[in-house]
Amino acid sequence: MQALEIQQEDHVILARLDEVADLVRTNSMWYLSFGLACCAVEMIHAAMPRYDMERFGMIPRASPRQADLMIVAGTLTNKMAPALRKIYDQMAEPRYVISMGSCANGGGYYHYSYSVVRGCDRIIPVDIYVPGCPPTAEALIYGILQLQNKIRRQNAILR
Ligand code: SF4
Repeated sequence: MQALEIQQEDHVILARLDEVADLVRTNSMWYLSFGLACCAVEMIHAAMPRYDMERFGMIPRASPRQADLMIVAGTLTNKMAPALRKIYDQMAEPRYVISMGSCANGGGYYHYSYSVVRGCDRIIPVDIYVPGCPPTAEALIYGILQLQNKIRRQNAILR
């Protein structure tokens, strides 16, 4: 943070509010896991001790009402699409979405299937796409870091 000023004698820290908000927001993204298929296993892998998403302040939530981020991990079917949209609508603003894997990004192997949505971005807005089938846990972590950069650039408090 460029504007951060520390005056040790007074124990006072001066900083811009938007920078503090971005710092807090990017380091406390509680995520709603939306595991739909095999990609979910890599998402779980990223949450386990080896990659430990909690070091970024990320905690899995089962409720959309306390979640800032939705990770769509897997194949989205037409039958599931209304539930995805409903849960997304229940998340509080500002909310973010990571689309994880070829299926969530564009239908993947099932692109021509009668029952699969050709990308979850047809149902909800997506901020970051993580490619792969499945993407590795490292790829998801990289996607999370890219999302943090995007949030810092957006300066949500001024939006
Ligand atoms: S992208 Fe590959 S690994 Fe992920 S849900 Fe689709 S088929 Fe499974």
